Amino acid sequence: MQLRLKNHPYRYECENLCRLFFPYSPVQVVDALSPGPEEPWAEALVDGRLYTARVSDGERVVEKSEEHPGLEEYAMTNLLYSAFTKLTGQSPAWGMLTGIHPVKLLRQYVDALGEEGGAEKFRTHCHVTAPRTRLAMRTLQAQRPTTSALEENDWSLYISIPFCPTRCAYCSFISQDVKHAKKLMEPYFALLLEELRKTAQVTKALGLRLISVYVGGGTPTTFSTEQLSQLCSAVHELFDLSHCPEFTVEAGRPDTITREKLLALKAGGVTRISINPQTLSDQVLQNIGRLHTAQDVLDAFALAQEIGFDDINCDLIVGLPGDSLEGFEKTLEGVLSLGASNVTVHSLALKRAARIEAEGGVTLHQKQQETAAMMDYSIRRLSEEGYLPYYLYRQTRMAGNLENTGWAKPGSICRYNIYTMDECCSVVACGAGGVTKLKDPYSDRLERIFNFKYPTEYISRHGEILQRKDGVTQLYEQFRQRLH
Ligand code: SF4
Repeated sequence: MQLRLKNHPYRYECENLCRLFFPYSPVQVVDALSPGPEEPWAEALVDGRLYTARVSDGERVVEKSEEHPGLEEYAMTNLLYSAFTKLTGQSPAWGMLTGIHPVKLLRQYVDALGEEGGAEKFRTHCHVTAPRTRLAMRTLQAQRPTTSALEENDWSLYISIPFCPTRCAYCSFISQDVKHAKKLMEPYFALLLEELRKTAQVTKALGLRLISVYVGGGTPTTFSTEQLSQLCSAVHELFDLSHCPEFTVEAGRPDTITREKLLALKAGGVTRISINPQTLSDQVLQNIGRLHTAQDVLDAFALAQEIGFDDINCDLIVGLPGDSLEGFEKTLEGVLSLGASNVTVHSLALKRAARIEAEGGVTLHQKQQETAAMMDYSIRRLSEEGYLPYYLYRQTRMAGNLENTGWAKPGSICRYNIYTMDECCSVVACGAGGVTKLKDPYSDRLERIFNFKYPTEYISRHGEILQRKDGVTQLYEQFRQRLH
């Protein structure tokens, strides 16, 4: 769709609102409108005190205008949002929020106005529906004990393993399938250990206290049993884990899980794993390019329980190709009967959906209401079963404009997920695609250091990766200097 802006700097925010209402129509910012006959378009204009939003679906035009004394982002975006809702008749679940951290915003409102006032502002100012306001508030409340226990030198370690047995059809992550990346895995592993060594030196010298370890991917269990043992030993040898009750490894896909690997993780001090079905329908698994069956998930889960893992997360996705409300209900009930301590319910991101469609898969998201019904079902059933929503984030262009929510039984919250989503605690990342996020303990400042995205660059330019770790020292020194 075409978007015309005039006399204000809120391009990014206006583009996001266009995507919210017309997710399938790429936004093109133009100086003068010249859309085709059935193309949607929008204008967001400021003329002195007069703000005007004009939107069209290619047939009807809706115009709204208001006067404001000065330039104000909310005035422009709110006007555009209200023109879009009038045009389309839609009231998105998260209102005009297009950012990925709604709970962080709610926290700011609650800190300023108290729980009731903060929730009211979240609902009315941002147009968030009452059920989503409740979900965000419950999430905020569940996070409190974890966030308020944080101390100024606390940090988390993230280790990225960007390899998977095959690539899922909906994947938008950098992960590489083993067939194509096998020869990279050995050198990657060796260099990863080197980066961990450097990270240990830097964080020790700064006197930081490690409070959680998360090995994610990709699928970390793509590595061999020996490599997994070696990785766990390296974490224990290099870091002081005496304040770290949480060591998670995403076992992820059941087609990588073996008794030997689970035993190696258990012996390596791993406290929490993920086994991610996404769905328990064989047909849907096939649609998304997974090589395993639902039974493989059940078998892997039983094996993990037999070996002694009692903290197991299961990821599910609503909106998968070929899935239905009934199918999703069966999946969720199946996961509940396994007794997973954590269930994370994701919404399929539209860019991933687009790829499946492009490859001739089942058409997605024509049934947005059904996707929303799946999500509502998960909220109701997980609440009934005593799970708490404890972290929540959104991506741009998600199915039904919904959210991803992590649910946990009381006492089995994964702190790392809160730290990384809420950006309330430093996370130092190792491995390709890793993003170190350093939280200034004395202000709201957050600094990022990026690793190279792909394993090939990570290997060929590893010297630079190690140098970038010195940035952790420099930034912490700045945080501390500013305090004095
Ligand atoms: S398991 Fe996850 S990271 Fe790996 S290919 Fe599938 S979606 Fe991507």
